[in-house]
This record gives sequence, C-alpha cells and structure tokens, in this order.
Amino acid sequence: MLTARNVVQNLKEYHPPLGGRSGLRLDFNENSSGCSPRVLAALSRINGDLLSKYPEREPVEAVAAKFLGLKPDQVLLTNGVDEGIHLICETYLEPGDEALIVVPTFSMYEIYALATGARVLAIPARKQFEFPTAAVLASTTKQTKLIAIANPNNPTGKVVPRERLIDIIENAPDAAILIDEAYFEFYGQTVMDLVDKYENLFVARTFSKAYGLAGFRLGVLAGNAEQMRLVRRVSSPYNVNGVALACLPEALADREYVAGYSAQVRDGRRRLEEEFTKLGIPYWPSQANFVLAMFGEFRKPFVEAMRSRGILVRDRNSDPGCEGCVRITVGTTEQTGRLLVEMRAVLRSIGWQKPSSAEVSR
Ligand code: PMP
Repeated sequence: MLTARNVVQNLKEYHPPLGGRSGLRLDFNENSSGCSPRVLAALSRINGDLLSKYPEREPVEAVAAKFLGLKPDQVLLTNGVDEGIHLICETYLEPGDEALIVVPTFSMYEIYALATGARVLAIPARKQFEFPTAAVLASTTKQTKLIAIANPNNPTGKVVPRERLIDIIENAPDAAILIDEAYFEFYGQTVMDLVDKYENLFVARTFSKAYGLAGFRLGVLAGNAEQMRLVRRVSSPYNVNGVALACLPEALADREYVAGYSAQVRDGRRRLEEEFTKLGIPYWPSQANFVLAMFGEFRKPFVEAMRSRGILVRDRNSDPGCEGCVRITVGTTEQTGRLLVEMRAVLRSIGWQKPSSAEVSR
C-alpha cells in the first residue's frame, strides 16, 4: 500500500473558504478594485508565441531587483509569497530542527515547516497581540533554523519595530529569519535594505495585495546572494508563469496605481477604526489593509448578516487568541462608505448594544 510520509499524514489541509464568494469581497485582503490598467493592456498583448515558450524569469527578475534597490542575484521571483515560504523551509529545515512562529499569524509558515519534518514552536503573542520579542529571543536555541514573522501581521495588523527585528536577526545567526512584508504598501516600513547586511535575513513581498494580482501568483523573495543561490536550487526553473512575467514590469512601472490605492486603504482603515470606536467594538489598530475586531457572541450573526447584504468579511474565531473576532478588509473609499453604512444597519438588526466604556477597554 502506498503510504505518505508520517508528517504529511498528520498535516492539516489548509482549505481557504473560497466557495461562493459573490458580493463585495472584504474577506481575503485582496485588492478590491482590480489591478493597474497597464497590466490589463499588457495582458491584451499576450499571444500564442508567448504562451508556447517556457517562461524566462531572469530578465524580469532584474527589473524587480532594480525596483527594490537590490542586485539580481539577491532576488527570486516566486509563485506568490506562499512559494517563497515553502522554498525557505525546503532549504533550511531538516527533521528535528525547530521553526519558531508567533501566533496568531499566517498559517502557511506552520504547514510548510511541519511538512519538512521540523517541529514548530508557536509562541503566543502578548496582551493586545503585542509581539513577544523577549520570549522569542529566550526561546531561540541551536535547533532554531527558521523564525518567520509577518510584518504587518495577519490577522492582527500589528507590526514589530525595526530595532526588535534586528535584535532577533542578530540573536539567531544560525536561523533563517523570514520577514514577510506582504502588506508593506499599507505600512511603508521595510527591512529590505538590511539584506545586504545580514546573511540570515530574507524578505518576502507579494503582488497579491496592493497590486491586485492575486490570480497571477507572483511574489518576490530577497536575501543574501550566496544564500539565494541555495534557495534557487530547490525552486522550479519555471515557477512563475510567462503571462505573469510579461505583465510584471507594467505593474511595477505604474507606481501611481499602487500609491493611489494604498492611500485610499489607509484612509478607509482610519474611518473603519473610528467607526469601531463610536460603536464600542474593540479592535486592534492596524498597519495592513484589514482590521481585526472583536464582536464576541455577535460574531456569527454579524458575518452572516453582512453576507446577506452582499459584503463578505472573514470569521477569525478559530485563530489562537481570536475568539469572537472578525477580520474586515479595507477597499476603496467608496467601498468603505458602503461598508460603514451596511455595518451600522447590520449591528442594529442583530441587536448590538454599545457596551459601557469599562467593558470596551480590552
Ligand atoms: N503572507 C501573508 C502574511 C499573507 O497574509 C498572505 C495572504 N493571505 C500571504 C503571505 C500569501 O501571499 P501570496 O498570495 O503572495 O502567496
């Protein structure tokens, strides 16, 4: 009988609830208004000649490297950040090694790490989902071969200050430190400049969020040139498809599109947070394109009533420490206006009462 590896038999399948997503999609942190028109124009020029060829990554990698202020040998284009995480795990983790994460966070770190046969040490975030730097430093041992940090974090929207990231990078020279900057454009701070300085630092970026290209599956992994040579060995030479490669230079060139969309998101995020304050709904101030808020026992009726009004939001109740929580993606200014109107109506309809101020200070 064919038997899968033990670790695979014990893995949980990560199956995002994608089915039947009709309406305003504020559930997956995607760009809710599409992508740059320049990308659509590039798409319309795709022909059979391009499709019949194996995709050539290097020339586009050079464009991406220039955009990031790096050299081409420091950069690998990936099939989304998901693949970047997978490749880091494949390159640095062996059975018995330890990968360290702080939870709640993005699920794929744990899944790809476990699939290698490594153990995962999940350290809970502190109160208010603050990053537990001291605990991370204290828990790092000779066996720690990967520390993965989403900055900003998903689903909390919280960030780790640059100085604390440097403490971790310097404290764990034998571990790959993956800083996942999938939500960089909504935050504005980066450690990309440090890949020249630290051999153990990797930084990931995605085109799935601000750029509106989640369907392309396109990301960037950056790191020390010598280390990236090793990471490239475990990657497929054709990991990024030719259509995505042909369009990426246009996506990068249209800085106005990304800046304009990100500005709308930042403003919408402020409006949504103000609305939560007015309504007495506890939330965590976010640096990403979503806000996590605490609806308690109203969580389920809220998510269902929003769906019935054509707005999808994401139930995060099962994430560690997130009981009663819902994550709402922020889109364009107009969509935020609609979100706020519908949210007020839904809360009235499900009987939400603004709690006394003492209860709100969670
Ligand atoms: N990292 C984080 C922190 C994310 O939230 C997500 C998407 N939800 C990803 C990576 C995956 O990005 P991609 O679409 O580039 O694989």
